[in-house]
Amino acid sequence: MIITEKKDRKHLLEKIKEYNSFFLLGCSECASLCGTGGEPELVEMKELLESEGKKVTGTFVAKTGCQVLGTKVEIKKNFKSEADEAECILVMSCGAGTQSAVDIYKDKPVYPTNDSLFLGNMTRMQIFDERCSLCGECILEQTGGICPVTACPKGILNGPCGGTNEGKCEVSPDVDCAWTRIYNRLKAINRLDDMKEISKPKNWSAHKKPMTLNVREKKEEGKK
Ligand code: SF4
Ligand code: SF4
Repeated sequence: MIITEKKDRKHLLEKIKEYNSFFLLGCSECASLCGTGGEPELVEMKELLESEGKKVTGTFVAKTGCQVLGTKVEIKKNFKSEADEAECILVMSCGAGTQSAVDIYKDKPVYPTNDSLFLGNMTRMQIFDERCSLCGECILEQTGGICPVTACPKGILNGPCGGTNEGKCEVSPDVDCAWTRIYNRLKAINRLDDMKEISKPKNWSAHKKPMTLNVREKKEEGKK
């Protein structure tokens, strides 16, 4: 999931000060779980804007904010007049959700209320860990399912480095050494021999920007 954090509200209000009416768009997926774009946060934002003398024409939590077509259909079907009336769309999800709204409202200003931080896992309620850096060429099968690109601050592919100390990373005693974790994991699953395999330098061209993937086209070509 995409982990988001609320932007500083003073900063946000300064950015949107020239607009008087807003439609609020949240997301029922990641942003709701992060507490940045579900129903309670939309209510909170509405109250904040109204306390500043602004008008909120409508609020809507999209099913999946980064799904452009689905979000467009949901808004146009249920909240067309409310969204059309607003001078500005405030998107309370991730950067991808914000850009869905840009696609939908080409002639209207769209502002994000959140910062998008990383791709992560929710390990306990509203506690998130970064687990994958979307490198484009996954090597988890070599590392017992623990990602060194993300969990090791140096992204070392053949670790550990000389700084590991009693299972902790040299960058901080609060951070477990990724390669100690990988060693322990491989040992637990009886795959320690995998440590002997040398990983080749990473092909970072698999991570070039901007990326697109057309699964339908690939299927038609019979590649997948
Ligand atoms: S190896 Fe790459 S794709 Fe796999 S988990 Fe790590 S960053 Fe993500
Ligand atoms: S101590 Fe471990 S986690 Fe830290 S930089 Fe070295 S190999 Fe990576």
